[in-house]
Amino acid sequence: MGNVLVFLEQADRRLRPAALSAISLSRAIHKSSGGKLLFVLIGDSVADAAKEASQFGADAIFTVEAPALKNYLAETYAPIVARLASEQGASIVAGCATSVGKDLLPRVAGILDAGVAPDVSGVVNAKQYRRATNAGNAIQTIEVLSDIVVVSGRQTDFPRAQPTGGSSPISAAAPGNINAAGASFVELQSQKRDRPDLTEARVVISGGRGMKEGKNFAVLEQLCDLVGGALGASRAACDAGMVPNDLQVGQTGKVVAPDLYVAVAISGAIQHLAGMKGSKVIVAVNKDPEAPIFQVADYGLVTTWEKAVPELLAEIKKIKSA
Ligand SMILES: Cc1cc2nc3c(=O)[nH]c(=O)nc-3n(C[C@H](O)[C@H](O)[C@H](O)COP(=O)(O)OP(=O)(O)OC[C@H]3O[C@@H](n4cnc5c(N)ncnc54)[C@H](O)[C@@H]3O)c2cc1C
Repeated sequence: MGNVLVFLEQADRRLRPAALSAISLSRAIHKSSGGKLLFVLIGDSVADAAKEASQFGADAIFTVEAPALKNYLAETYAPIVARLASEQGASIVAGCATSVGKDLLPRVAGILDAGVAPDVSGVVNAKQYRRATNAGNAIQTIEVLSDIVVVSGRQTDFPRAQPTGGSSPISAAAPGNINAAGASFVELQSQKRDRPDLTEARVVISGGRGMKEGKNFAVLEQLCDLVGGALGASRAACDAGMVPNDLQVGQTGKVVAPDLYVAVAISGAIQHLAGMKGSKVIVAVNKDPEAPIFQVADYGLVTTWEKAVPELLAEIKKIKSA
């Protein structure tokens, strides 16, 4: 087979955690495919991130820099990744299934006339991949028959790669003709939070419709702050305007797999479970003993959050101050 080209996401001169998951995915593919392992970073100033990436055992790293590439646009990035893939004889193009990866990689596949293995959770070999389907209730093995395969890995299923030491050679590749095809970057609206990112936190505490009002999430926020966790929510809570939509966990929200997931006043619909059932330990607080969330919970409290959460807060404070 040919080489493996991996698109690495970076921000603020650093590799994003998603890049480390993409490296884990690519190592798994590379074991079966052989060839060279190649990384590509695109932006207006990626030298520092490329240096960081050079410790992860790639045979070569390509940086593509231009002021017009400062902000990610699929229209400008995809032709660059596709061109490099062709120039470097890549038979695999890989990345992480983040919002950027899900936007970019199918477009790269379109340009290369390649088949796509999207959002995979495991690598069988360079052509065959495992992925969740039916809201996570079944795992399918898919085979991509095209000469070039474009693969995106689910971040929660590929742990952050560890450096291997050494230092990969870094070279600049020309951006070529940058054509945004009528698209333009307008603005990035991001919320600065003191808490860890939902998809990267070791503890996630989510609230559901049973929290009744947005202001009641304050107790869950206190709990998050005590344990250094991130706040999440069910779709019903987001749709009701209790919390912002970007906190939604589930099939159509974020997929999380923290060490500890606490579901408070969430029924446990399959679409919610699809986003959190990979968590190592699941705790559920629900007043209904028949709530489906208890079927996946390791620990369950059948009670109201009004009773359980203040008690939990008091207990954790007591332990922390002891
Ligand atoms: C295509 C599709 C995609 C979807 N994607 C998602 C998704 O990504 N994420 C997601 O979450 N949902 C998703 N849904 C919606 C999903 O089907 C459920 O409707 C939703 O998860 C329900 O949210 P909930 O558990 O907060 O609300 P409910 O189902 O209304 O449950 C509320 C729970 O709170 C409990 N409760 C009430 N009061 C209290 C109290 N005082 N103390 C303790 N417990 C209490 C109740 O017993 C109940 O179990 C999707 C649906 C569809 C059709």
